[in-house]
Amino acid sequence: MDFGLSREDKLFLDAVRSFAGRVIAPRWVEVDEGRWPIEEVAARLGEAGLLGIPLSSKYGGQDGTFLQAALAAEELAYADPSLATPVYMLLETAWPYMVQRYGREEAKGEVLPEVAAGRAFIGIGSTEPQGGSDVASFQTKAVKEGGLWRLYGEKNMVTGVTTMLNLPYGGGVIAITRTGRLEDKHRGITVFLALLKRKGRVAPGFSHRDWEEIGRHGLPTGYLTLEGLPVEEAFMLGELNGGFKIAMEGFNLARTIIGAASIGAARWLLDRGLEWMRQRVVFGKPIASYQGISFKFAELHARLEAARLAVYKAAWVADRHYGGDSAFTLQDVATAGATAKYLAVSLAVETALEVMKWFGGASYFKETNVARPLLGILSYYVGAEGAENILKLIIARNIIGRELV
Ligand SMILES: Cc1cc2nc3c(=O)[nH]c(=O)nc-3n(C[C@H](O)[C@H](O)[C@H](O)COP(=O)(O)OP(=O)(O)OC[C@H]3O[C@@H](n4cnc5c(N)ncnc54)[C@H](O)[C@@H]3O)c2cc1C
Repeated sequence: MDFGLSREDKLFLDAVRSFAGRVIAPRWVEVDEGRWPIEEVAARLGEAGLLGIPLSSKYGGQDGTFLQAALAAEELAYADPSLATPVYMLLETAWPYMVQRYGREEAKGEVLPEVAAGRAFIGIGSTEPQGGSDVASFQTKAVKEGGLWRLYGEKNMVTGVTTMLNLPYGGGVIAITRTGRLEDKHRGITVFLALLKRKGRVAPGFSHRDWEEIGRHGLPTGYLTLEGLPVEEAFMLGELNGGFKIAMEGFNLARTIIGAASIGAARWLLDRGLEWMRQRVVFGKPIASYQGISFKFAELHARLEAARLAVYKAAWVADRHYGGDSAFTLQDVATAGATAKYLAVSLAVETALEVMKWFGGASYFKETNVARPLLGILSYYVGAEGAENILKLIIARNIIGRELV
């Protein structure tokens, strides 16, 4: 067993760390307040080769690995712990990879190079108003009319619709739709890359409004109504009624990289906490000298180390599976991804709350910036890319067995 990074991965990490420290870190509060538009950030990420890391160079990607994507997400989150920047990057890792894996050549060749350049955004249109956890019961319909598919239904909490509408090419969502009967459950689901803006032209057949979010203001999330959005056959991913598995694969990968982003934010918080506890003097001594503080630091440090290893392992398992190693199944990727997200996100939330306590009342004011990461991380704690109980359900089912859980 080797806990070190390869030479290539170290060089990659150094380059990302330098980019993130130089370009993103000085301006992360501007991103969080929407004063540095995410579309401009995306262009910089694209130039730096951080969008579509595991995509093939044939489609403008880096021919990289999921471990490299995880390292990049961690460093971007350390630079922007509000999480808008790493979330943009990680969504453009997982979902475009599904397009590369299951898309038709025409769709891949057109859209993926635009994504990799930061000129298009591919989001995930999964959650519906009646709930996001039970994907097999989704109701958004795809109907073949003439030579085109048309999408009808409601998708809630879709990240990045306004962003794609602002980008030069545009982009779309991986739309999880029903093409079979409702009783067919997961066997009646088809996935499309449904473009809302293509080559600079906004498509007909949808409307959209953003929610007002409590945090992560840099990357908007909203409600999408599909009113007959046209989608060409070439933009179907995989086979008719075979989309459930593709959606689950995308979530597995996104969860792994979300774990990495949460680790980056938790590291940032612990570092700020460490600086503070060394210099904040109360009752005549730095607060670091009180065990109520230093032991809690030690506990969080230890748990961070463990969660970080779980994240890297999940990325490594994904690399083995997608690299063709039959010893690592899709179920292994799913279990490792759910484990990574579960451990890293809950740790990041607890770290944020604890570090805020170390800062005392000062943490409550925006000027210290230590509360901002909590509001971004909470999006993943409450649900985004799988609520905590659903992660536990995946782990339990995969290990105990579907017949019992
Ligand atoms: C900031 C943000 C961005 C998001 N971006 C996107 C996006 O881009 N695209 C998208 O499609 N969605 C997005 N989401 C939505 C997210 O995917 C959902 O919140 C998530 O899937 C959970 O769905 P829900 O919120 O409807 O909760 P529900 O499915 O209604 O679940 C409610 C609660 O019940 C629990 N629960 C459900 N079933 C079970 C069970 N069987 N056993 C035990 N407990 C259970 C859940 O864990 C949860 O705590 C985003 C959410 C947020 C907050």
